[in-house]
Amino acid sequence: MNYDYIIVGGGSAGCVLANRLSADGRSTVLLLEAGPADTYPWIHIPIGYGKTMLHPILNWGFNTEPNEHMNGRQVYWPRGRTLGGSSAINGLIQIRGQPEDFDLWESMGAEGWGRDEALRYFIKSESNSRGASAFHGDSGPLSVSDIGERSELVDAFIRGCGDLGIPPTDDFNGATQEGAGYLQLTTRRGWRCSTAVGYLRPARRRANLRVVTGAHATGVTVEGGRAVGVRYRGPAGDATARAAREVLLCAGALQSPQLLQLSGIGPAALLQQHGVPVIRDLPGVGENLQDHLALRFLYKCTKPITTNDDLRTLFGKVRIGLKFALQRRGPLAIGVMTGAMITRLEPGAATPDVNYFLSTVSAEARGAAPHPWPGFTLAYYPFRPTSRGHVRIKSADPFAAPAMQANYLSTDYDRRMMIAGARMARRIAATPSFGPYVLEELQPGRAVDSDEAILDAVRDHGSSGYHPVGTCRIGRDAGAVVDPRLRVHGVAGLRVADASVMPTLVSGNTNAATIMIAEKAADMILEDRDRAA
Ligand SMILES: Cc1cc2nc3c(=O)[nH]c(=O)nc-3n(C[C@H](O)[C@H](O)[C@H](O)COP(=O)(O)OP(=O)(O)OC[C@H]3O[C@@H](n4cnc5c(N)ncnc54)[C@H](O)[C@@H]3O)c2cc1C
Repeated sequence: MNYDYIIVGGGSAGCVLANRLSADGRSTVLLLEAGPADTYPWIHIPIGYGKTMLHPILNWGFNTEPNEHMNGRQVYWPRGRTLGGSSAINGLIQIRGQPEDFDLWESMGAEGWGRDEALRYFIKSESNSRGASAFHGDSGPLSVSDIGERSELVDAFIRGCGDLGIPPTDDFNGATQEGAGYLQLTTRRGWRCSTAVGYLRPARRRANLRVVTGAHATGVTVEGGRAVGVRYRGPAGDATARAAREVLLCAGALQSPQLLQLSGIGPAALLQQHGVPVIRDLPGVGENLQDHLALRFLYKCTKPITTNDDLRTLFGKVRIGLKFALQRRGPLAIGVMTGAMITRLEPGAATPDVNYFLSTVSAEARGAAPHPWPGFTLAYYPFRPTSRGHVRIKSADPFAAPAMQANYLSTDYDRRMMIAGARMARRIAATPSFGPYVLEELQPGRAVDSDEAILDAVRDHGSSGYHPVGTCRIGRDAGAVVDPRLRVHGVAGLRVADASVMPTLVSGNTNAATIMIAEKAADMILEDRDRAA
């Protein structure tokens, strides 16, 4: 059980590292993943998103702590628990963020993470079905594809946004982000392209890479200020693996900080409270938690042209099943969202500050069966929330979930943006082009009209955008957890490389940015290896 590198967590980031670090055959690599292999068929068929949303084995199914700003509600936080991690259960949407996000990181102390570097790694990671360009790659492991067919409803939505002066776009990852159009998805010929598919599969036969599933890491072993191994509970019971070079934490924004805290690296008072011996007092571990807060508008549609209609009858199901089987197209090849719109809510915002998503499906709750009538969903979240929360262990038990508190709506800006976002949703729904498709607003419902009533609807129905980040942020100040080369401050041989290192949320979805982080991390790790040789 001796390896050069031990990677904890086979998710979006972990699979990237497993591939890149084992590629030249000069290092031995162990990948530990708590969940099982990704053999469940619905992982790979994009519409299976609904089936994994509440899955008891493939999803950690966390809940936040009650939030006083959300009427005391706990909010559901799904996280992938299988090879591919959350990229195996996510909505497949490929929106990277804005160049300004990465410049902001750099200005906050993440030297070398500015827009040009980010773009370089976005391009390196990607195989875009449209081919290579100044913004896209055509030979990376992550397949990104067009949806490949148009929908009457989404076309009307795009025209409706046009009625409000928002231009159409065919690329949310191109020269500008603003506009309305069809999404690109992380799919390959209609199948989901998780990082387990894109990165890990091609590397699985390498003799220098070992992958152990069902292996839950319980702590990092630190000797003389250096991380030398990982303790875990695996298929054969409790075990320890030794790392000659480095331990790499890729357990995600909730569990990487949890593992650090369990290992004695974190806020000293918190660790002492739970009887964990302090190895390194790092107050920022688990702090700075950020997430997108989303509100869904549910509509009845005037025409039977929605996916609800396809799924309502046996004939419809057979038709879309055949379409997928024969052409790898249609609703089964789309996770959940088809169209999107990005614009500015705040007057004077320097860059777009909100994202709308249109789904041709409606359901009472996420993961629930579609409504038995024509329906669709328009969801939105502001891009750059200012509320900050935390992840903190509740005990020294490595199998107990930590306390997660997003503190949604705790700032004036966040409350204002949610209200403005709801008003904009209604403006879109009332446009000459899109309005004729709206029979009724089911949720929140037209009676919800005043600012206070809208805010209350957000408190009662707002849900996670599924993008927790920031809990082991890059920087050089006292609250930072890793330096710009992702090395944990004060502990040698230990890095964090996943969504937790983002100093702030990106103005987009977080899978692409996490993969970008892992690509750059792999280069830095190998550079350091070669320099030391
Ligand atoms: C339902 C959902 C929908 C989403 N939709 C989108 C979308 O459409 N587009 C987008 O860009 N982003 C989306 N995201 C977000 C995106 O998928 C995540 O930000 C990204 O996958 C995070 O990558 P990560 O490597 O940090 O963590 P993860 O991919 O979550 O990987 C962490 C891995 O570590 C494992 N692990 C955790 N603890 C341990 C332990 N102690 N021992 C061993 N293994 C452990 C986990 O099982 C998991 O496999 C969505 C997320 C979810 C959950």
